[in-house]
Amino acid sequence: MRIPASALIVSLIAFVTVGLAAPAGAGPCDVGDFDADGTIDGTDLATLLAAWNEPGGPADLDEGGDVGSEDLAILLANWGEQAVLAGTFPAMWINGGACGFDPEIQVHQYNEHTYILRQSLCTNFEGPFMYLLFGEDTVLMQDTGAGGGIHIGDTVYGIIAAWLEAHERTSIDLVVTHSHGHGDHVQGDSQFIGQPNTTVVGISQSAVASFFGISNWPTQIVEYDLGGRIIDVIPIPGHQSAHIALYDRATGILFTGDTLYPGRLYISNFAQYVASIGRMVDFTADKPTCHVLGTHIEMTNTPGVDFNFGATFHPDEHPLQLGREHLVELHDAVVAMNGSPQYEVHDDFIIFPLGLAGPAADAGGDDCARPHTEAAYRAMLRAAARLKPAPRLEGGPSGLGAGVARVYFRQRARKVGG
Ligand SMILES: [Zn+2]
Repeated sequence: MRIPASALIVSLIAFVTVGLAAPAGAGPCDVGDFDADGTIDGTDLATLLAAWNEPGGPADLDEGGDVGSEDLAILLANWGEQAVLAGTFPAMWINGGACGFDPEIQVHQYNEHTYILRQSLCTNFEGPFMYLLFGEDTVLMQDTGAGGGIHIGDTVYGIIAAWLEAHERTSIDLVVTHSHGHGDHVQGDSQFIGQPNTTVVGISQSAVASFFGISNWPTQIVEYDLGGRIIDVIPIPGHQSAHIALYDRATGILFTGDTLYPGRLYISNFAQYVASIGRMVDFTADKPTCHVLGTHIEMTNTPGVDFNFGATFHPDEHPLQLGREHLVELHDAVVAMNGSPQYEVHDDFIIFPLGLAGPAADAGGDDCARPHTEAAYRAMLRAAARLKPAPRLEGGPSGLGAGVARVYFRQRARKVGG
């Protein structure tokens, strides 16, 4: 329904007069804080009204296709101070469909102090995600990518330089940490080691524990302060022995690495994994958990269907963001297995214990997703042969092909993870 903005001013004034102090129903992760200053106020209202009747965009809060009264209602319902800083996701990530046009690393600014980086599938089929969280004293980087010749150091120091300039600062400390020690998350470390104002945390469990001051691994959860931005560090072995999750109080994001993401959840130690998932469920029970962000995407937008192992093109890729409901769903599922690991396909992820006979055996191995059997290796080569050369978009870098446009709208309609 399209209503002129002016017609809403009267009801708006009435609303304001009645009082906005108690925003009944406003949840901890509500949307509408366009300038991400922690408060939904007149500035955000002006942003929404300026986009009135426009198709889509950030002001289309209900993703209904245009900006209108429903979006205004959402904004007003959330009026006032917010528990967490909001952010945005791109409509789609680079997905290996435009090799030669796409950047080797896609840089997305989630909000003023938070960046999400995606390594191009054209450079490595793992296509991992990396994160940059800026505090007042320290910027924390999670993971350095899967190699493949990408210039992750240049990219990150470029982002830091731009952030410093925007905030009229001259320097900030960079701390490079890892979700876990597998090769597809640490290959870029050498581009940071020995650089100014930079600390690269080691990848062993003892190095991780000692850096963060964790004396009781894996049950102890510690705080790490970036300067006005506290990160809770949660040991979560199971996929890999030195795996940690990060909970960012500023954004309400839980970073889960390879332990939970929309894809194949390879489990090397099942008992530890179950306990780790439980630890995250317990920890987030009383905290705003706006998004759960892992480090790969291997699911399509068709429930329960993943891309072939080793695929370097991900058409119709599942969104990156999951929600706490997925964490709970995973917990319920692995607890129900009662100590006997099962391969189990869910809509948004696949539970993939390693070392099982049957369908799970082939693609297994204790090194993320790498094939450890002859059969798995041949299957990967077959998949790669089918998918190369990667299809290019019609119209080059600026034009989206029809298929891509369909993906765009389907992803918007899906709203996974709120
Ligand atoms: Zn990985």
